[in-house]
Amino acid sequence: MAHDLHAHTNRSDGAHDPAELVEYAAGRGVEVLAITDHDTIAGVAEATAAGRAIGVRVIPGIELSIKVPHGSMHLLGYFDEPAPEPLAGLIAGFGEKRAQRAREMVDRLNEMGVALDWDDVVEGAAGAPLGRPHIAEALIRAGHVDGRAEAFDLYLGDGRPAYVGSDGLAVEEGVSLVRESGGAPVLAHPATLRLDAAHLDPFVGRLQRAGLVGIEVHRPEHTPDQFAGYGALARRYGLIASGGSDYHRPSSPHHPGATGDPPLPEETVDRLLAAELG
Ligand code: AMP
Ligand code: FE
Ligand code: FE
Ligand code: ZN
Repeated sequence: MAHDLHAHTNRSDGAHDPAELVEYAAGRGVEVLAITDHDTIAGVAEATAAGRAIGVRVIPGIELSIKVPHGSMHLLGYFDEPAPEPLAGLIAGFGEKRAQRAREMVDRLNEMGVALDWDDVVEGAAGAPLGRPHIAEALIRAGHVDGRAEAFDLYLGDGRPAYVGSDGLAVEEGVSLVRESGGAPVLAHPATLRLDAAHLDPFVGRLQRAGLVGIEVHRPEHTPDQFAGYGALARRYGLIASGGSDYHRPSSPHHPGATGDPPLPEETVDRLLAAELG
C-alpha cells in the first residue's frame, strides 16, 4: 500500500475534483493521501469526506509559495484539522496576491505581442488561486503554444520573459504560520531552490531553526544522488524525510502513490503529525 503526502486538485492547478482525486488514488493502492493545493485548502473538506467514504486517510495540507531571491520555494504544511487558524483566515489574501502576479505575467505577454485575454485566464481557473498553469492553459487555448511544456519553455518558466516570481510569504514567516496553525512545515522539492550543496545546507539549517520539521526526500523524479543528498541533509538537521508524487493531472509524469525508490515509509505521516507543536 502506498502513502503519498503531495497531491493537487482542481481547487488549485490540478485536474481532478477532490473526491475524484481520492478515488483515483485509492484505485492505485494509496492508503494515506495529503491534499496540498497551492495557497488554498478549498479542496480539503470534500477530499476528507470522500476519503472517509472509501477508506482513504486524507491528510489536510497546503503548499505555500514563499518569496526567495532566486529559484522558487514551496513550503508544505500538514494539519490534523480541515481549516486550521490562523492559516485559513489568510487564504483570501494569498489568492489576491496570486491574481496580481498572474495579471503582471499576462500584461508582460501582451506587451511582448502574445495576445492573451485576462478574462479567459480567470475563467479557466474556475475560482482557484491563479498560477502559471492557468496562464499556460490560456496560451494553449489561444493557439500560441502546443502544450504546457512549450508555454513554460518559451514564456513562463523561471527566468523566462513573462516569468514573475512569487510575492508570497517570507521564509521564516511561512514556517511560523504553519507552526502557529498547529501544523508540520515541510520543505517541498528542494531542487527548485536551485542552490548548490554548499548553499542548500545552511539554508536548510536556517529553515530548521525557524521550525521546519521535514524535507521532501522521497520524490519519484529524484535521482539516487538526490535521494542520498537530501536524506543526508534531513539526518544532519533532524528533519523527517517526507515526500509524495506531486500529482496534478493524468498527463503528469508521476501518479498518486509514486514516491520514488525507496518509497515513502508508512510511519512518516504519523511522525509529522506528532511533531506538530502549535
Ligand atoms: P506558480 O505557483 O504560479 O509559480 O506555478 C507553479 C506550478 O506550475 C507548479 O506547481 C507546477 O504545477 C507548474 N509548473 C512549474 N514548472 C513547470 C514546467 N516546466 N512545466 C509544466 N508545469 C510547470
Ligand atoms: Fe502545481
Ligand atoms: Fe510545488
Ligand atoms: Zn505541488
